[in-house]
Amino acid sequence: MDESQKNLKEKKLEMIQMTINQSDEHPLKSFVHVLGGILVFLSIVYCSLKVVIDASIYLMPDSTAIYLTKSLGDIIIFNQESSEKNETQKYVQDLLNRLKENSSLKNVDIEVIIRSDSTLNALSYPGYKIVVNQGLLEFVKSENELAFILGHELGHYHYRHLLKRLSSSVLDFSVAIITLISGVDTSIVKTLSANLNKQFSQRQESESDDYALKLVDRTYDGNSSGATDFFEKLSKTEGFIRNSLNFLFTHPLSKDRVSHLKTSIEDFKMSDKGLTPLPKNIFILDNISKKEEDE
Ligand SMILES: [Zn+2]
Repeated sequence: MDESQKNLKEKKLEMIQMTINQSDEHPLKSFVHVLGGILVFLSIVYCSLKVVIDASIYLMPDSTAIYLTKSLGDIIIFNQESSEKNETQKYVQDLLNRLKENSSLKNVDIEVIIRSDSTLNALSYPGYKIVVNQGLLEFVKSENELAFILGHELGHYHYRHLLKRLSSSVLDFSVAIITLISGVDTSIVKTLSANLNKQFSQRQESESDDYALKLVDRTYDGNSSGATDFFEKLSKTEGFIRNSLNFLFTHPLSKDRVSHLKTSIEDFKMSDKGLTPLPKNIFILDNISKKEEDE
């Protein structure tokens, strides 16, 4: 056997060896490697998109944020029809408008919708619609108390919390933006309402509380009376726990929240100048409210 034949034989042996080695490898191993690489790549793209979207929401001018919040109300179905424009609706709407005058949302039309729901809740929705449940209206004892709650909802708009909440899902946010730009309605957008019912973060709630306090300070000439009533009553009255579950779900409640407000009241140099009563002929007091008065 000459040298070249020897080399050829060695090469053949090497190839056989390689084939044997390859057959030891699981056939899905390379597939898993490729899949892993793609997933890592997609994760990086997703995280980058999230950072870009979050930064855009933070940096966009007010006019863009207002346009987006308003337009999202047109494409997201959240089953909130306008309520009857009765005396109660007009009163709450007027109160909201007064607070709005002192806010960054002065030129934005915001509609109050009174929902015949006995749970204690108020919610801000895209399209600048604030839903106030009848149960909450029957629970509050003064205009000041109600003003704080409305101011809090305005705070969610001011700080663009709705946009931030929607953008917690990059896919949802992207679909919404594409729908707005293309003008094509998609059934996917209708599912986004579930994302919008997510809880705001503690930080966002705290920001909105401070914003509400500022509005109350400006609207009621430094009067802090009634500003913490709602949360104090909720935390103290055990009998309301069941009824307040809905509010607790969407608005995290803690003693810290009330004490934070009290600190802010001191910082703003606000003082107790007395409560403004609610118009008697408008709010119907239900059994729950009467029971509390009897105690
Ligand atoms: Zn809130």
